[in-house]
Amino acid sequence: MQKCENCNSQFSWSKIFKSFFWWTYKPIECDNCGSEHKITILGISTVAVISILPIWIFGFFLPRFDNIFVMPGIGVLIGFIGFFCTPYVVRYKKVL
Ligand SMILES: [Zn+2]
Repeated sequence: MQKCENCNSQFSWSKIFKSFFWWTYKPIECDNCGSEHKITILGISTVAVISILPIWIFGFFLPRFDNIFVMPGIGVLIGFIGFFCTPYVVRYKKVL
């Protein structure tokens, strides 16, 4: 998970999660040294891919299932897993 580029302290999962949750991509401030970090273009793309992937998987597998109750369940599950894993893969850069 992302660390502070200035003092190397680990950002918390919730801190990163909150920064992209509303699609605002607020810069995160290090609790230890106060330096600001902005999400990278790659980070934004990662969030976008992870958000879109469940919908894509959903559309791809939809014709294989007849049960209309199973599919939305799987779609939501994949969405949740992807969403909660995002803070581990999103990258931030220190603001100069
Ligand atoms: Zn720091």
